[in-house]
Amino acid sequence: MAEKKDYYELLGVQKNASTDVLKKAYRQLALQHHPDRNPGSKEAEEKFKEITEAYEVLSDPEKRKIYDQYGHAGFGPQGFDWRQDFSRVQMDFSDIFGDMFENFFSDFGRAGYGGRTSAAGRHTRGSDLEYRMSVSLKEAAAGAEKHINISRYDECPACKGTGSKTGKSERAVCSACKGRGQVVKSQGFFTLAQTCPSCKGEGRIISDPCPNCRGTGRVRTNMHRIAVKVPAGIEHGSSLRLKGQGDAGVSGGVRGDLYITIFVEKDRLFERRNSDILCEVPVTSTQAILGDEIEVPTLTGKVKMRIPSGMQTGSILRLRNQGMPRIAGYGKGDQLVKIRVVVPDRLSRQEKALYQQIKDTENPDTFPEIKKFKSNL
Ligand SMILES: [Zn+2]
Ligand SMILES: [Zn+2]
Repeated sequence: MAEKKDYYELLGVQKNASTDVLKKAYRQLALQHHPDRNPGSKEAEEKFKEITEAYEVLSDPEKRKIYDQYGHAGFGPQGFDWRQDFSRVQMDFSDIFGDMFENFFSDFGRAGYGGRTSAAGRHTRGSDLEYRMSVSLKEAAAGAEKHINISRYDECPACKGTGSKTGKSERAVCSACKGRGQVVKSQGFFTLAQTCPSCKGEGRIISDPCPNCRGTGRVRTNMHRIAVKVPAGIEHGSSLRLKGQGDAGVSGGVRGDLYITIFVEKDRLFERRNSDILCEVPVTSTQAILGDEIEVPTLTGKVKMRIPSGMQTGSILRLRNQGMPRIAGYGKGDQLVKIRVVVPDRLSRQEKALYQQIKDTENPDTFPEIKKFKSNL
């Protein structure tokens, strides 16, 4: 596969483009490259997929954050699965296009993904959904409760999910698909086995459909708020399963699940090494020479730490139990404090005189690094 193009470049927008600018850019390109407008063009189809993927990521603040930080790698080794995510952006599309392509999107987005029909062909399980959530390293360390808003299908309140207006209708076999739930359809140049539009894949037609949900038993909810408990010690790329929080099933079928994929943001101070945390701390040359008590930041606040005399730059000291919680085991990892010896960039007259005095008396053989270097010459 060719190397993936930059999402911002694909949409022809600046890195700091606002949501409105993104939407306008995408709308213009999508209208131009939409497969229905370019029948038979493989190139238009590819282009359409690319810009749709770019828009899908950049229009979602969470995903955009992940993309800005990790690039395409943020979406796993397989990259972004546009098919999988397609169903979830239908609402955004109808917002963009009005009813223009509604049919295309709703059929295409759901084809081959999600619902399974039971043997009776009546109750279809709702689709599983995926949400990508970023958490800070501190949140990953301490655990967190976060709230997300998702768009999903919920049980229709008017018919309580049955799809029937009266609640006692008989279901006749759908004539459009002869009960198979699928029809082969060509739209533009796509030829796909699609969910039957008459029975919505159920294979049966309800005789008195509920007007609120057109007999499907479910309605779309935007911005459904869900609390997500992020366990302490969670790792980048791991996934949480929220059972029964996906799409509602058709005609009272079982709900799908919601998968939360976790992205741990990079931290400016701390670097994770499994359950240990590495933090580089600058100390002055005299602190390193004489030893001192210094203040060290940890994931849970500052602590005082004794550094012995003669610390070399790059040496690592260990603060026990100040690392990440071990999610599978017990306790915590350690914090590794990497010492970096720094020197001043300006000196007072008095300091200069004192350093000069030290320089005149110091013995190069008492510097282990210099000794080692000399012996290697
Ligand atoms: Zn209903
Ligand atoms: Zn049908």
